[in-house]
Amino acid sequence: MAGRLVSETLTKLSQMGDVTLHEPAGDSPHSERVRRSRKKEFNFSNCIANLQTPRGPKPVLKSMMTTACERNCHYCVFRAGRAKTKRVTFSPDEMAGAFDTLQRAKKVDGLFLSSGIIKGSVTTQDKIIDTADIIRSKQRYRGYIHLKIMPGIEYDQLYRAMQLADRISVNLEAPTSERLHKLAPKKIFVQELLRMLQWAEQIRRDHPQERLASSVTQFVVGAVGDTDLELMTMSDKLYSQAKLARVYYSAFGPVPGTPFENLPATEAIREFRLYQSSFLLRDYTWDVEELPFQRDGNLRTDIDPKQAWADEHLAHSPIEIMRAEREQLLRIPGVGPVGANAILRARRQGRLTDLSHLKQIGIRNTQKLANYVLLDGLQPARQRKLF
Ligand code: SF4
Repeated sequence: MAGRLVSETLTKLSQMGDVTLHEPAGDSPHSERVRRSRKKEFNFSNCIANLQTPRGPKPVLKSMMTTACERNCHYCVFRAGRAKTKRVTFSPDEMAGAFDTLQRAKKVDGLFLSSGIIKGSVTTQDKIIDTADIIRSKQRYRGYIHLKIMPGIEYDQLYRAMQLADRISVNLEAPTSERLHKLAPKKIFVQELLRMLQWAEQIRRDHPQERLASSVTQFVVGAVGDTDLELMTMSDKLYSQAKLARVYYSAFGPVPGTPFENLPATEAIREFRLYQSSFLLRDYTWDVEELPFQRDGNLRTDIDPKQAWADEHLAHSPIEIMRAEREQLLRIPGVGPVGANAILRARRQGRLTDLSHLKQIGIRNTQKLANYVLLDGLQPARQRKLF
């Protein structure tokens, strides 16, 4: 009987397919976006994604407690009233049982669990928490769990979710309250979303001895006039104040049967430039003001933002590799945190006087940086002519 139940649940799960296609959960969001098998047959590949998790690369079950929803976000395939959407719902026992079976069969090693909202956020979040609780307490699974946080849940629910998970997502969707109102009229920016991220950081600070989940968020980019400046300003605040592990940017794509079905899709290159800029804020100690925004508040899409900044600021005043501070090194195209550390180490041991020396310490694309640096007082191009 129990075996039949699990089998039915697995069938339901695989038929539900890649419902979380637009909800990135790992550290390589673009590879998650690849649409998996469209075959109608029983096929688990549709609900399993190979993610780069904080615990390394893993096959992760990505699913939802329910694809029904009482809210009406204008961009969403699961919004209320969209008659063509097939709605599938799992109980916590069903979802946990299916995960257990897949995990024991070594098909998955990790869970990303989201949900539409039915009977309010608090009730929905309880179902997500109950599922994770069964997996952790009864099934004694110690691997990777990423839980979605519903808008406006209670503080204690958030705390419990953070005890159970490695990572939690609170999707802000938009960078300001006004933009959110146009995207998702029933979501309240500060009280329901931003506050969750602030609470999460507070909970981590209040319980330093506990192993608690990190936080991430996602923005839907380009549907309601949001600018890159708005997105980066909010991202910067989230990194510095709410200590987010990462921010996802999801280029808007119109879904038939929604109020936004006739809006143009956002170009994928904009999403890519936002990720590049976001990493400059998170990993390269850049300030928002340093990003090369155009007058309309957007970044150029035809050039890497770091390169655009360097063309403007370094082409005529290159950085001396032998004397620059780490923060300055991180402004050179082609030099990341690992490269900057390698330069600092190498400098202590000797002089870096040639591009080949930079290659030897692991900086791969030395041509990319040649126009923006001095090596022992000389520009590399001039230096090469001497030999
Ligand atoms: S709350 Fe979530 S599932 Fe429901 S309509 Fe909005 S984005 Fe879609």
